[in-house]
Amino acid sequence: MGKSATPGAGEELPAIRTGAEYIESLRGRKLRVFLLGEEVEEPVDHPIIRPSINAVAATYDLAANDPELASAMSPYTGERINRFLHVAESAEDLVMQNKMQRRLGQLTGTCFQRCVGMDALNALHSVTFDIDAANDTGYHARFKNFVAHMQRRGFVIGGAMTDVKGDRSKAPHEQDDPDLYVHVSKRDDEGVYIRGAKAHQTGCINSHWLIVMPTLRLGENDRDYAIVAALPVDAEGITYIYGRQSCDTRALEDGDIDAGNAQFSGQEAMVVFDDVFIPWEHVFMDGEVEFAAPLVERFTCYHRRSYVCKSGVGDALIGAAATIAEYNGVERASHIKDKLVEMAHLNETIYSTGISSSHEAEQMKSGVYICNDLLANVCKHHVTKIPYEIGRLAQDLAGGIMVTAPSQKDLEHPEIGELVRKYLKGKTDVSTEDRLRIVRLIENMTLGRNAVGYLTESMHGAGSPQAQRIQIARQMQLEKKKSLAKKLAGIDGGKNAEHD
Ligand SMILES: Cc1cc2nc3c(=O)[nH]c(=O)nc-3n(C[C@H](O)[C@H](O)[C@H](O)COP(=O)(O)OP(=O)(O)OC[C@H]3O[C@@H](n4cnc5c(N)ncnc54)[C@H](O)[C@@H]3O)c2cc1C
Ligand code: SF4
Repeated sequence: MGKSATPGAGEELPAIRTGAEYIESLRGRKLRVFLLGEEVEEPVDHPIIRPSINAVAATYDLAANDPELASAMSPYTGERINRFLHVAESAEDLVMQNKMQRRLGQLTGTCFQRCVGMDALNALHSVTFDIDAANDTGYHARFKNFVAHMQRRGFVIGGAMTDVKGDRSKAPHEQDDPDLYVHVSKRDDEGVYIRGAKAHQTGCINSHWLIVMPTLRLGENDRDYAIVAALPVDAEGITYIYGRQSCDTRALEDGDIDAGNAQFSGQEAMVVFDDVFIPWEHVFMDGEVEFAAPLVERFTCYHRRSYVCKSGVGDALIGAAATIAEYNGVERASHIKDKLVEMAHLNETIYSTGISSSHEAEQMKSGVYICNDLLANVCKHHVTKIPYEIGRLAQDLAGGIMVTAPSQKDLEHPEIGELVRKYLKGKTDVSTEDRLRIVRLIENMTLGRNAVGYLTESMHGAGSPQAQRIQIARQMQLEKKKSLAKKLAGIDGGKNAEHD
């Protein structure tokens, strides 16, 4: 309940450029993090948390190793910056975001956590501009200063939109407990104080800053809930309660086989704000309820086509399925080949809808480019289904061993290890250990830790399926389609089809 870190602190320090520098930047921050009922001393060294930090570190290493793909020139700083901090100046910038996301999905096999912040920056560029144009406020200039600071330091930004929401049939101001949506609890000359909690926050503990945003359309009585602001992750008054992931405690065991993907994972936590102070300098909306819906729609427009990340993760899963088929000696069977073709076809369907949304981008009044909303929603709606089908096919090819395999400890046991190696062998020239490693990876991605990112996040992240159907319904131009049909059928009402 005190004042947060000095705005702009550390401006003079060099930008974080490599994965190793990023990991070091997270140390010693004294965050209040709870995991499995215990307060975490240093998240960086916690075996359950570390794989999620490694996944974010991969975004820095990719920018260092492949700058064309994962970095961009900033008009704010005049320097090359990480693409996750770049505000899109062309359709090509949005296309490059998608290419980078697919590559990172391939490299990590999980959620690499930085897209929510990237998509929030792009959405806020036009929203702050439009609020200023309507109300003569000064949000856009503040926002651009903030972006420049993030770029100079090379920070990770978490995007905090989803409230815990209580009774979903009620508006924020109608809830029995006002804190079920994040809101302004107090204002003074220096800034605002916020209260409430955000749920399912991807990469929040691994970020340097958070941007809080409203999660839904707001009405006149919800003014205190119309708050958009940026705050450092270590601001006083924040508590993080870490989300459990399926099989997460395997990361506490010795060995790296049973985890399936020991190096990388995603991260979600609930973030609780106990009257946390934010200076005016970092407030980008306060009370402009009429701009909550445009913000949510523009953010989800960017974010729903960001889900091409799943096509990168899908590439790794398809590779795992093809590998286990080889290890089992069935790779030439026609139904196996056909299933792999089906998986590739489905995976490219996600990619093609996402990247076409980026190609079809248009410029907003503020100058930022925004992707095509209809295609972005089609992309995300595919993502609510396709990974489940790819996962089902991967499990088909993996065989039952995926869920009945003994542990690494059994494999390495002085007495029974030999039995495990003898009886769980596939093809002669493939070691039993390699066969177990690949089925554990498939387990990890379809039932374990990274099924959170590949499956359930695909369902609910960036909005549950119904949210996309609403947007598709709004934009499907049914009247125009009816006129086209009537014209072809020679019905009177179809005469003007081409002018609709
Ligand atoms: C792994 C993961 C990572 C995520 N990361 C982030 C993040 O980084 N930042 C962020 O802000 N959010 C994040 N989200 C949140 C995501 O946007 C939400 O999960 C999504 O918007 C759905 O909200 P919910 O989970 O509260 O579902 P619920 O609201 O509980 O929905 C459950 C069901 O009820 C339906 N429903 C809900 N409300 C209504 C209503 N009023 N009328 C009719 N039906 C309704 C839904 O359509 C759905 O079918 C993440 C989610 C997941 C799973
Ligand atoms: S789910 Fe995909 S789009 Fe969202 S943050 Fe993770 S990697 Fe990025």
